[in-house]
Amino acid sequence: MLLLQTATSTIRSGRSEGKLLRVFLNLRRMLVVYNDVGSLFSDSLLERDPIRSLSMTYVVTEACIRCKYTDCVEVCPVDCFHEGPNFLVIDPEECIDCSLCEPECPVNAIYPDDDMPVGQDNYLELNAELSQVWPVITEMKPALSDADEWKDVTDKLDELKR
Ligand code: SF4
Ligand code: SF4
Repeated sequence: MLLLQTATSTIRSGRSEGKLLRVFLNLRRMLVVYNDVGSLFSDSLLERDPIRSLSMTYVVTEACIRCKYTDCVEVCPVDCFHEGPNFLVIDPEECIDCSLCEPECPVNAIYPDDDMPVGQDNYLELNAELSQVWPVITEMKPALSDADEWKDVTDKLDELKR
């Protein structure tokens, strides 16, 4: 456990350790699977889902539309944010479920896929689709000029530009 904590604090210290973080988290996922396999003979099996553990991703949801503050991209160790005209998405195939981006978003637009805002489950598919066509963004840039006017607006999917 001490080794894992040390590795975690080391890899959080900068982007250059992104690859190390990917290795570490893959190792963590392997441990989760190992643990789940070990539980095949326990009563807790029905409460677990090993496949789910392997497929977690974070998702950008509606609040980002027409805001795009981009605070989130600077902390992602594996560069899985992609930028559209007025929205960002996360590539679910690249996200390593590290959670570093979630607290960075000033409008709370980022959620894990197993804890999505009510009525926004469709954003998982939207992130997967648009991340295949929009370019990667790795550096913070100024927010959209009218971002503050849109940050508290809801039901704004129609405002999304592709
Ligand atoms: S910080 Fe939030 S609003 Fe800004 S680009 Fe990232 S997800 Fe969108
Ligand atoms: S949780 Fe956020 S910071 Fe971590 S890999 Fe996924 S998108 Fe990047």
